[in-house]
Amino acid sequence: MRTREINSFKTLLIDQRAEVINRLHAFRSETLAPVGERGDEGDRATSELDLSRAVRDQERANMLLPKIDRALHRISEGNYGLCEMCDEPIGIARLKARPVATLCIACKEEQEQQERIFA
Ligand SMILES: [Zn+2]
Repeated sequence: MRTREINSFKTLLIDQRAEVINRLHAFRSETLAPVGERGDEGDRATSELDLSRAVRDQERANMLLPKIDRALHRISEGNYGLCEMCDEPIGIARLKARPVATLCIACKEEQEQQERIFA
């Protein structure tokens, strides 16, 4: 991969990381808000819905953060974009869709198949 391409992925990952951290902070201040500030009965029902959505968002963010860090680490080591299993390039298109991908499509499919077998 060209340096220019690596740099654009790096920017993308750093942006994504900041966004995830923002979301985690927003979640904390939301859930830590005193109950009295959450309004009346009707509002509370809405905020409980919001809360469960926020919890899902937070779980996703919590899982994504180490993946972003790992990708950034791989950039600094110079092996970003290479499959962790077969060392083949993961492919720009796949990385654009999923910058934190660590496996090429073939290895990913193989892994998913094994997960299905052992599930
Ligand atoms: Zn592979």
